[in-house]
Amino acid sequence: MNLITADFILTCNDNFEIIKDGALVFEKEILEIGEKQTLLEKYPNAKRIDSPKNSVLLPGLINPHVHLEFSANTTTLHYGDFISWLNSVIGLRDDLLEKCNDALILDTLQAMLQTGTTSLGAISSFGKDLQACKKTPQRVVFFCEILGSRPDSVDILFEDFKSKLRHAQELEDERFFAAVSIHSPYSTHPILAKNALDIARKENYVVSTHFMESVAEREWLDSAKGDFYNFFSNFAPNARPLSNAMEYIELFANTHVLFTHCVQAKDEELKAISNMGGHITHCPVSNRLLGVGKLELKNLPNKEIFTLATDGLSSNISLNLWDEIRAFLFTHPKESLQSLAKLALQGVTKNAAKALKLECGVLSEGKNADFLLCTLPDKVATSEDVALQLILHVKTPEQIYIAGEKI
Ligand SMILES: [Zn+2]
Repeated sequence: MNLITADFILTCNDNFEIIKDGALVFEKEILEIGEKQTLLEKYPNAKRIDSPKNSVLLPGLINPHVHLEFSANTTTLHYGDFISWLNSVIGLRDDLLEKCNDALILDTLQAMLQTGTTSLGAISSFGKDLQACKKTPQRVVFFCEILGSRPDSVDILFEDFKSKLRHAQELEDERFFAAVSIHSPYSTHPILAKNALDIARKENYVVSTHFMESVAEREWLDSAKGDFYNFFSNFAPNARPLSNAMEYIELFANTHVLFTHCVQAKDEELKAISNMGGHITHCPVSNRLLGVGKLELKNLPNKEIFTLATDGLSSNISLNLWDEIRAFLFTHPKESLQSLAKLALQGVTKNAAKALKLECGVLSEGKNADFLLCTLPDKVATSEDVALQLILHVKTPEQIYIAGEKI
């Protein structure tokens, strides 16, 4: 049994409770959390871990949406406009995938871990990241992705998806979870989506999808016009959207689902997602680099469904969630800074854990002992300031624990 102390503990629970001069008692799971003096007296035999000055304890960070298979990209892809970027992905994908081997993905996961990401949702399009995700110490929700719009290819694509999912299922344990990703409404035939979602319902798997990322997607789904019309005309002369936005959302009824981006989603679509118990994943850096606009936070039906993620290095320069959170603060300059700091931290802890169905993300009794010990460069005047100062100053945590083990 261990007892770690800190000047401040950010529990990241529903009330964003902060404990000053706190302590956490843990083994593989958290046994108790509270005031330092009380717990030192109650657990005199626990192995004591003292923290340096100006220390802050918080849950390990959770990145619910990342594409590790594109980790070889740094300067290759074209940024600024969604369709130009998509064309560059299609044109240069094979080169990027060839450079992306197990070693590179493991290095990427290690870099994520060193910056405090102890759990992640990996969107796997090709299965190239399977072995690395199994080997890494982090908790991984491994989303096997399905896409394809040609009706004559549905059967073969579904068989391929089932085979990828089976490989992931065989590796499941307490840190690795198989899951399902439906790529997007513009790229995935509704029959494919429906078949894959039937499996997700039966197996109780978490589901992820991209939704309303760009104006091009909005125009295509609403009126079969815009940049996607030209894009699809290159492949098929009479291309039509596969479904409208609301029909697409309804496919996900009775699943445990994350809708990523939602930048161009309408209020009624956001409400429908919230009503079905879905989560929304915001990727501000990716959205900026692809020139698609930003999610309007005031349109969210409630803040509990909000999660924050980096997306992949195909549309980001960093998978460090602290970098993403800092970018998030600057993406929404009209919102209160203190409220944004809390929302961001809950978006990568409590809310993300709920979205991925993980037993972590909050420092409370019975949860997995996944947490970070960070230090600030100087004293913080009040508890109220801790979240914001942490976001502004932390680059890498001092100590990282997963299931009570120091990494
Ligand atoms: Zn994505």
